[in-house]
Amino acid sequence: MQTSVVAVRSILTRSAGFLKTVCSHSLQPYRGCPFGKSLCGVGCYVRHNGWITRQRPWGTFLEVKQNAAEVYRQTVDRERTWARANDGSFTIFLSSSTEPFPPQELRLGITRGLLEAMLEVPPDGLIIQTHSPRVVKALPVLVQLARRCALRCHVSIESDRDRLPGLPPPAATVAARFAAAEALKQAGLEVVITVSPLLPIANPNQFFARVAQAAHGVVLDHFIGGDGSALGTRTQKTALPAAMAAVEPASVQLAYRDAMASLAERYLPGRVGTHIHGFAGRWGPPETRAGEALS
Ligand code: SF4
Repeated sequence: MQTSVVAVRSILTRSAGFLKTVCSHSLQPYRGCPFGKSLCGVGCYVRHNGWITRQRPWGTFLEVKQNAAEVYRQTVDRERTWARANDGSFTIFLSSSTEPFPPQELRLGITRGLLEAMLEVPPDGLIIQTHSPRVVKALPVLVQLARRCALRCHVSIESDRDRLPGLPPPAATVAARFAAAEALKQAGLEVVITVSPLLPIANPNQFFARVAQAAHGVVLDHFIGGDGSALGTRTQKTALPAAMAAVEPASVQLAYRDAMASLAERYLPGRVGTHIHGFAGRWGPPETRAGEALS
């Protein structure tokens, strides 16, 4: 892992493409992701973003935005004014192209600094998106933030399986991520499990019962329609579809997502979302057409 420290001039990125209906801004404390060589990194859509990777293999670099909190404080008034004028709400998605709580965060505290800056000047809404059980280290500040803005914590758990044949292990076990989600929920935060991209689930009834215990809602997204390319062609170039098909052939079809969403409704009635609608907190039946591109 090549780690470098960078100074940035902006930190609140105005939303474009599919994120526009979810939030007014995205915020990346880091560029690159230390989880890139783990299971979630195989199907991670960011690995195809040449502007971020600059031809570096995904999972091999981490740029630390050391002045992130300072730049937040400098630019938040301007961006909040812009967001309220354009979208009506200043809502931040943290993060869409990196992990906000990588192992390095414990030492570097970039995300922690940003959350503390948000306590001073809070957004209207904040969506935390994480694969990492380390999110619980931020519980004290998250609990305070939840009193000052609409806070939603998304914890990614793509399946009840820790391994798929031929693919690397996850950065954190399914059990550890469920435990983290449950800790957030018990602390009074709104928690959503993001099953994205949906991987083959060994015991769907047991899985969604566990989701209902650990969270208030669930989002299901398939790599078809979910990876930013028509028909999931970006993911089709990776090892993920073959590994999925090896354990559950039906799982590589979009209909698998819809079948899982119907089943999830039994456990979380009215709290199941799909595709970008779910990430935006809009619950309801699948609305995405096969092959719909995200951006
Ligand atoms: S944690 Fe998120 S950004 Fe990092 S590799 Fe996994 S899916 Fe991609």
